[in-house]
Amino acid sequence: LKETDPIVENQITVCVRKRPLNDREFNRKEVDVISIAKRNQVIVHEPKHKVDLTKYLENQLFRFDYVFDDTCTNELVYKFTARPLVKTIFEGGMATCFAYGQTGSGKTHTMGGEFKGKSQNFKSGIYGLVAQDVFRFLTHPKYSRMKFMISVSFFEIYGKLVFDLLARKERLRVLEDGKQQVQVVGLTEKVVLTVEHIMDLIQRGSTERTSGQTSANSNSSRSHAVFQIALRKAGSKHIYGKFSLIDLAGNERGADNNKSNRQTQIEGADINRSLLALKECIRALGRKNAHLPFRGSKLTQILRDSFIGENSRTCMIALISPGNFSVDHTLNTLRYADRVKEL
Ligand code: ADP
Ligand code: MG
Repeated sequence: LKETDPIVENQITVCVRKRPLNDREFNRKEVDVISIAKRNQVIVHEPKHKVDLTKYLENQLFRFDYVFDDTCTNELVYKFTARPLVKTIFEGGMATCFAYGQTGSGKTHTMGGEFKGKSQNFKSGIYGLVAQDVFRFLTHPKYSRMKFMISVSFFEIYGKLVFDLLARKERLRVLEDGKQQVQVVGLTEKVVLTVEHIMDLIQRGSTERTSGQTSANSNSSRSHAVFQIALRKAGSKHIYGKFSLIDLAGNERGADNNKSNRQTQIEGADINRSLLALKECIRALGRKNAHLPFRGSKLTQILRDSFIGENSRTCMIALISPGNFSVDHTLNTLRYADRVKEL
């Protein structure tokens, strides 16, 4: 995909990003089995054996709204995915953007960005890019007179548990009232007045997420991270628009069938259930009178208001690893992403 390609305005956008082969894959002589044709097609060259053991490649083609190759930057991915959704929240709607894929495929790189080298050189991902644009929109003549107040929250969903990434991973309760409204009780919501403040919160929350590797909930590949930016009109308690950005748990956890340990099995089942419920909720966005199975998991319960609004838009970025050892997970990821939009 190129900078100059057209942006499609869809209610649901599904795209794929392929990362470069890394040193570890290169050193064990993995080969890149993913090729990209045009700006929206991805082909997986799956190595197979015939009965007589001759090797051959089975090519499988998938089409999406956009396909980003391993030279694309976070800024380019942002431009075609989350960027077109920023105006949705300024028009009173709900926007969601998901990063989906196996562990190590580039979800956190794409969403959160990361620290490069020893310096405090923070390379921004989609969280930061959305934050910057939200502040830019605030000063736009069309919106500046609406006197919006911006606040952010950042939390992690691990199985049925929720942890506040802006409050030292304090455990939070999720309550549902009679009207199926779900509330995360005590969730920190920081009012932000500057871009610097919001960037600082992103960095702090991201660091919190990956710190303390010894506790059971600390492995970030087994939890969904939810970063939210809410808009309210000055003096109002009601949320006017909200952007939710979600770095999903590694999808291989759900597919993991090895019965090694009971805890891992329960985790895998939880992740699987939430990803299936998520897929159905996104699919329902595009249909009238569709059944919303949001109660199927904590993730979809918490994001419920993002799926029911009339002015809701969502975008899914499926991340894939290029190496031949990952081909099964890659095919799973592409099939899932394909079904999110399939009619
Ligand atoms: P995940 O969150 O899906 O488990 P990460 O985002 O942590 O994966 O990525 C795994 C590793 O691959 C990281 O070291 C990251 O820097 C690197 N990586 C991911 N995507 C890219 C990319 N598009 N370009 C360069 N490096 C990448
Ligand atoms: Mg990650």
